[in-house]
Amino acid sequence: MSITLALSKGRIFEETLPLLAAAGITPLEDPETSRKLIIETNRPDVRLIIVRASDVPTYVQHGAADVGVAGKDVLMEHGGEGLYQPVDLNIARCRMMVATPVGFDYAAAVRRGARLRVATKYVQTARLFFAAKGVHVDLIKLYGSMELAPLVGLADVIVDLVSTGGTLKANNLVAVEEIAQISSRLVVNQASLKLKHASLQPIIDTFRRAAG
Ligand code: ATP
Ligand code: MG
Repeated sequence: MSITLALSKGRIFEETLPLLAAAGITPLEDPETSRKLIIETNRPDVRLIIVRASDVPTYVQHGAADVGVAGKDVLMEHGGEGLYQPVDLNIARCRMMVATPVGFDYAAAVRRGARLRVATKYVQTARLFFAAKGVHVDLIKLYGSMELAPLVGLADVIVDLVSTGGTLKANNLVAVEEIAQISSRLVVNQASLKLKHASLQPIIDTFRRAAG
């Protein structure tokens, strides 16, 4: 039975390549240069599909892909319904943080119960996080360049992924609170796991060993 694996271009694809290699899987084309969205591999029974990072859980949930690699950020936002998450691959590691302009007293705003305008791509995650803290927020959905929002008065704070902090620093922002540690996970369609167990289990086991 053939296996379809959903990946996104960029860091997830690059950091998944060594794990695929450990499982004896080599893509026959490079998605960075190819325009193809379905990429065959050296194994006739394994193909890759190239989708937006935030779409990986959707393809796997509906069984359009049997397995995929998705960031915890994307999984928290999606909810993970219908997905089995057997392995933390420990790749594409970063942190989801609350960040504010330098000089904005976040702690004081939280203490006095101020209503915060929060710009983010991660609306569901931010909603849950601030609700658990008892902070009232107006959520502003953005699709990228969150760092800009506080600089032009669209928001008081942002929720975004931070690795080195370089982008925050370049825009005079500072991380003030951690929401979650992020890494990418292997996600598996629950029906596929039963129906294609003989093909999927060795891949899951190899990824688990190779991820360490
Ligand atoms: P698109 O660029 O298509 O809008 P995206 O910005 O979510 O999608 P990437 O920037 O490639 O795509 O991020 C893909 C995944 O990599 C994220 O979901 C997250 O898990 C992880 N990631 C994002 N930014 C970083 C970072 N700075 N360091 C490490 N991992 C990151
Ligand atoms: Mg991006």
